[in-house]
Parts: sequence; C-alpha cells; structure tokens
Amino acid sequence: MSNTKDLKEKLFCPKKNLYLKIDDEQFKKAQDFSENYKNFLNSSKTEREATAFFVQKAKENGFEELSLDKKYTPGDKVFRVNRNKSVVLAVIGENNSREGFNVAVSHIDSPRIDLKPNPLYENNEMAFFKTHYYGGIKKYQWTAIPLSLHGKIILKNQESIEVSIGENESEPCFYISDLLPHLAREQMSKTMSKAIEGESLNVLIGSLPFKSDSGSELVKLNILKILNEKYGIIERDLSFAELELVPVFKARDIGFDRSLIGGYGHDDRCCAFPAFEAILSAEKPKKTCVVMLADKEEIGSDGNTGMKSSFFRYFLADLASIDGIKTRHALSKSKALSADVDAAFDPNYPSNFDSLNSSFINRGVVITKYTGSGGKAGASDASAEFIGYLRKIFEENNVNYQFGQLGKVDTGGGGTVAKYVANLNIDVVDVGIPVLSMHSPFEVISKLDLYEMFKAVKSFFK
Ligand code: MN
Ligand code: MN
Repeated sequence: MSNTKDLKEKLFCPKKNLYLKIDDEQFKKAQDFSENYKNFLNSSKTEREATAFFVQKAKENGFEELSLDKKYTPGDKVFRVNRNKSVVLAVIGENNSREGFNVAVSHIDSPRIDLKPNPLYENNEMAFFKTHYYGGIKKYQWTAIPLSLHGKIILKNQESIEVSIGENESEPCFYISDLLPHLAREQMSKTMSKAIEGESLNVLIGSLPFKSDSGSELVKLNILKILNEKYGIIERDLSFAELELVPVFKARDIGFDRSLIGGYGHDDRCCAFPAFEAILSAEKPKKTCVVMLADKEEIGSDGNTGMKSSFFRYFLADLASIDGIKTRHALSKSKALSADVDAAFDPNYPSNFDSLNSSFINRGVVITKYTGSGGKAGASDASAEFIGYLRKIFEENNVNYQFGQLGKVDTGGGGTVAKYVANLNIDVVDVGIPVLSMHSPFEVISKLDLYEMFKAVKSFFK
C-alpha cells in the first residue's frame, strides 16, 4: 500500500493546493503582498493611472529616465514612459548587452467602456453618454452596476484636464440601465450576445433640467453647465478627450477564509504589479532585466502604445547601444516572460475546460506554452528548450508552477503579447496566474498565486 503511495509521489505530477505546501511565514508574505496589490488596484483603474503609479514609485526607488549621454554601471535603474499610457523599466546587469536581456511583459489596460467622440445627448428628460466598449466583454455584465469616469480632456488652449469621478463615495457615479425582468420576455429569449446591444450601452449621467421657461434639451444644458463650472469645458471639448468608464468596485477579499481577491482589472494588473515589484527588488542582476508594462493588449496590441509598436524595441536598442552592441545581437540572446493571466478552471463550467490541462486557483503560476485558437492559430508556441530552462529556474527557486491552457480545444481561444515579443527574435512563454470570471467587472484571483507570480519574475531576473 505505502509502496504505491511512494511510487506515485515519485512518478506523478504534483497537484497540491499551495496552502498545503507553504509555511506560516510564506503565507504571511502572500497576505502582505496582497494588501499592497489591493491598494494599487484601487488607485490604478486605467492604463494612465497605472503608468502614473508605477512612474512615481519607480522614481521613489531610484529609477531615472534613460539618457543616451550617460554611462551606466550594474545596478543602475532606468525607465522610459510612452505617451503616459505605458512604461518600460530596466535594471542594468553585470553582463554586457551581448548576453541579452531578461524581460517580463505585462499589460495595464483592461476591458472597459469608452465614451464616443460625440457622447452627450438627452432623451426623454434624461442625459446620457454614448459609448463604445473596449476589449472583449460580455455586455450584459456591465449594466446595472456603478461606474466611475476616468481620463483626460485637452482644451483648445492645450491645457489638459484630468478626470476621475466616482471612486470616492462622496462623488456621484454613473450607470447603464437594463430592462426589468417583467418586460424582458423578448430580451430574455435572445442569445446573451444579442440581449444587450453595443449601441444600447448608454450611460445615465443626469435628469435635472436647467430651470427656464422654454427651450429644448434642458437636461443636457444643465449637465453642460455643471461640467463647465467644474472643468471649464464646453460640449466640443468632450470630443478632444479619452474618457473611460470602469466599475466603481474596490478590491475585496473573497471567501470566509479570505483566500481570494475580487477586483476590477486583475487582467493584467495581477501580473504587472508582481513584475514591477520584482524589478524593484532586483539589486545587481547578471543580465539587464526589463519590465515592459504595455497598453492596448485588450484590443490587439495595435497603436503606438501597444506591443506591436516599436517603442519597446527602441528602448532595448538604446540599452544595447550604451554597450555599443547591435540591437539584433542583444535581442537574439534575450529571454522573456509574457506575464499575462490564464483562465482558471471554473467548477461551475467544467465542460468548457480540459481539466487535465487547465490552471487551478491556488496551484501557483501558470505556464501557458501556447495560446491561439483552432489548431494553435496565431500562437507563439514556446520551445521545449526554453520551457525546460524555465523549469530549472522555477524549481531551484521554489516557484510553484502548473501548466494551463485557455479552455478546451475548439471552444474559443485568445492571445497575449507573447507573439509580438517572439517576433523580435526573443525566446518567450506566457507565465501568469489563473483568473476566475476574466474580463468581467469583478474578477477573482488567489492571494497565494499572486505571490508566486512575484517569486516567478524575481527568480527569472536573478
Ligand atoms: Mn491579459
Ligand atoms: Mn484580457
């Protein structure tokens, strides 16, 4: 009997809940790390806010903007910001750039609801904003919940106005209505993708008319009067803006045992934050280590702040040029983690997952060898050599890992920035943590997995 047990322990893949493996000290570390993470999540709901958070914290920790005129020595810390929506950081290593860089890439944009260029209108004495959703959302999940408005408006005189309204309880918030069940017989018979149309995601922003004897659109007028008094803007200014609606929800512990964190935007801030903390703690790494926090992943990584832009490559080129090395020689020796989340196995929807190849909550970081869909289409498939190399690092540093995939073959799929990193001739694989209810307004992760993510990137940078 015990023979079987011993042999299984020796030969089978371990599948233990992390909690059964770690000691009290590790557990405490994961708890403390989670508290810092929740604070970050609450203060950084958009890519602009996350960039501002990381830049401020980087400066406090001795990072300076990369200068081509400066000589750098091992341990020096540099960063570069891309249009206030993305930031890349590096700690100079002891080795020459010819040896390559160790890179972790995460994204700091999350699915949300953006305002259209001409957003404001009045209908039946209520004022609304027209919207266009950003990223892959199940539209029905974004109705009947409190939303806050974040972003930036550029005035005619080029002055810029920061907007953040709805996060504090003393401030108003916003709302997309849904039809009451009593009248929804037709709506309820539609498929979920049709029940709420993109054009009906109109945000309620007010109902009081401007007090006047006559005239139309008095509610709209009153809203503009309030906006003019608060921000000094007129209707036209709303077109010269990036305004985004996100859920008001604060990050909260989930479960009687408080083992999980619910929050908006875990995808991919639950990897961005640990990657950032890992580079903060990198003292004098052998190879130069780099953390790239990108925008636009949720809409395909296009645009000059997404991973398809040359921003990242140019930064690495500048690092290489400091050592007098050709970029391509540095890139070909570089290694990267595409630090992005995976779909956690959900016991409420077991038929959508291959349980043998799914990631599970509380089992550590997920190595996703390839993403894509329908025959690995569009995937960067990591090589056996590279994941073999990672195994050595993770096991030597007691990083708990598992292998996962985004659901069953032929049920759907998805992509990450891994393939754009691979295009640069860098070895790359997805390593992230499992998320429940991904892309919903309130996603769930495990505290223990979050801390393993920090350990994973830290060991990769060693
Ligand atoms: Mn993601
Ligand atoms: Mn995503």
